[in-house]
Formats: sequence, C-alpha cells, structure tokens
Amino acid sequence: MTMTTTDGLRWLRGGTVLTGDGGDPLTDTAIGLRGNLIEFITPWAELDEESRASASDLSAHTIAPGFIDAHVHLLFTCEVDHEVTRTAFETSSAAELALTGARNAVESLLGGVTTVRDLGDTRFVVLALRDAIAAGTLPGPRVLSAGAPLTTTGGHLHWCGNTADSVDEVRKAVRVLCSSGVDVLKVMACGGNMTRESNVHVPQFTVEELTVAVTEAHRFGRRTAAHASNAESIRRSIAAGIDTLEHCLWRDENGAPLPADELLELLLPTVTSVTVTLAGIQRVMLSDADPEPVELAAAQATSPTGGLASDYEWVKPLIDAGVNVALASDAGVRFTPFRGFHETVRCGIEGFGVTPSQAVGMATHNAAKSLGIADQVGLIAPGLRGDLAVMEGTDVSRNLGAIHQVYRNGRLVVDRSQLVIGDLF
Ligand SMILES: [Zn+2]
Repeated sequence: MTMTTTDGLRWLRGGTVLTGDGGDPLTDTAIGLRGNLIEFITPWAELDEESRASASDLSAHTIAPGFIDAHVHLLFTCEVDHEVTRTAFETSSAAELALTGARNAVESLLGGVTTVRDLGDTRFVVLALRDAIAAGTLPGPRVLSAGAPLTTTGGHLHWCGNTADSVDEVRKAVRVLCSSGVDVLKVMACGGNMTRESNVHVPQFTVEELTVAVTEAHRFGRRTAAHASNAESIRRSIAAGIDTLEHCLWRDENGAPLPADELLELLLPTVTSVTVTLAGIQRVMLSDADPEPVELAAAQATSPTGGLASDYEWVKPLIDAGVNVALASDAGVRFTPFRGFHETVRCGIEGFGVTPSQAVGMATHNAAKSLGIADQVGLIAPGLRGDLAVMEGTDVSRNLGAIHQVYRNGRLVVDRSQLVIGDLF
C-alpha cells in the first residue's frame, strides 16, 4: 500500500491488533489515522517505506478500540461501603458532584475507556460534564447521560431525585428527562443493593408503567435501559420493549440463579441487548486477585454460588445464541475505580470462558451496538472514530496488559499511563 505521509495520515504499527469484532487477533498491523477518524487498517508488510518511516512503533503492544463502558456512575465515589458512597452523594452540592465526575472522567480515560454511558446522575450534573468534555473544556471520555434514573418512591436510587408512582407520573417524568437533553432513559425495574430500603429481588414498576416509559422515550428518539436484577423484572422489561437490560441477573425472588432457557426464549425474538456488569465485587473474585478481607466478604455475601464462572453460567448460552451481550463495569459503586476497566474485561474472560478478543468485543463493538453508536465507535475500521486503547505486550492468548496509550478522536490523550494535557486544552 502506498500513500504519502505529508497529507495528514498518521500511522501506528501494532504488534497485535484486536479490531473489536471478537475474531482472531491480527499480528503486525498498521492503523492509519487522519483527523479524528480511522482511515486504514492494513498489514504492516503492505506499507511503503515512507509510511513505515513515519509510523509510531507500537509493535511491542496490543491495540484495541477504545473501551466503551456502557454502565457507569460518574458522580459516585467507589467507597468500600455503599452507604458511604450514598451519603457522600446525598450531602454533596452540585458543584462538588461535578468535580467528582470530572476526576472520574479522567480516571476512565487513563483506563482506556473512550466512551461511557452514565446511568446515575442527579440535577443534570452529568449533562454539564458531558458538554464540557465534548467542548474540550475538560479531559474525559465521550459521555452519554441518562440524567437521574427513573424510580419509584423509596425505590432503587430514589436519592438521585427522580421518582414516579403511576403511569401518568412516569409519562411526565420521561418527558422532562428527554426534553432536558438526556441521551438515554434509565429506569429502575427493581430494587438494588445500593438502596437498602429497596428490594433487589422483586419488581418495582408494572409492565404498564415500563411500557409508557419506553414509548415516550422512543417518541423522543431515545433508547431505554432497565436496571433488572431478578427474573420477574427482566420479564416485565422485555415485555415493555426495553432496549438494554442492565445486570440482567436471572434469579428468582430469593436470589437463587435460574436456568437460562426461559431467558433465552424471551430474548431471541427481540433486539434487546444485555449489559453484564462486572464490578469490584467480581474483580476481587479473579483467580489472581489479592483483595482486602472486607472486599472479599462483600463479594461472598453477594455471590450466589461463590465463583465467577458459576455465577455467570447463564451468560454463555446467550453469547452462543447471538444475543448482543455488552460488558460494563458499574464503575463508581463499591470498590470499582474508573481506572480498572481492564479488570472488568478480565472478569469477562474468566467468568464467561471467552477469549480476550471476544471479551474486548463485548466491551467495544457490542457495547456500541447497545448504545446505538456502532456507526461511530467500537471497531477499528475505516470511517470510525480514532478511539484506541493501547495495552502493554502482544500476547493476548491468556489475558490483556495494562493501558499504555489512549487515543480519542484520533488524538493521543494518554501516553505512558499519563494524561497528555497539552493536547486537550
Ligand atoms: Zn449501576
């Protein structure tokens, strides 16, 4: 392949390249960036001398698409105890929360994440953060924001400040969110661990309420995400036409895992995506983890079977059947710092028994499909954004190395694990 280097093309030489499609890793591959886009991906051997001479040598590294973390809470503080994170959130001013969010945004960029979907805002703080990053005022990943999650009085994350208790109230709340500029609707179909007074094992909205939420959001052109951590809330969410099921814990009203057959039957006729969140309580169950005793105790108290692979046995049949499964971190919740996204990818490898390339695909291309942005990001392919995560080492047969560089919109924003400030302002 012959092209001049004077026309704005910049070449990277990757020792190993994972394109995000989940397929076999490519070796010794050149990626050509122009402006904010990827223009070429081609074998290094096909590059002319002049292009080779100008290329950034990443032949000792692995290049993947920038990670897309489809489920985060930028305003949360990752404390070991949920109650401490909640209290900090409830007692902080909007300005204080914005600063927490700005710091977490930088941390996720340092962790190779170039796009996040935030599902836990309050007072539209994350919308302001999203816009500041998009304007180049602050460093960070591209942000999609749900605003404050829609929940019931006393329901999961009611302390984010957006409750509704009837079909009419739900309709009104969704209209307020969408007209305020959120990118996606997040609805809490059942209780959650972070809200002790909610019930994680039973639904909190009716099918009618969820259906109105989805209908209204779709009318505004917004996709919908449902927090669903038990079988009945998953059934109701699918019946309502929810676009992405968050956590999607297929468990009965006592928290016991159920066989995946019915879930698969419900999912296959739909285009519903599943977001599996593998957070701190899963990261500490990695085979080589060395957790604090308090973290391990929290993991054991939450894990239904005591093991990563056995807890997530229901995921493999979904992947094999072609359900769009995205991998996300739930960063911001207990001991889930934003910089540790590659630990979540490793949990996917161990938990689902997939290859590193497949796990990366779930954290890039599949996540982009879930979010409706696969035409812009999630693959190393011509025409898509120049978002790249460069990792140490080239042997991905077992695992992934730490983050070495990050490119966002074709610009180097993290180099040798440090933020490249000069390029951002
Ligand atoms: Zn969450």
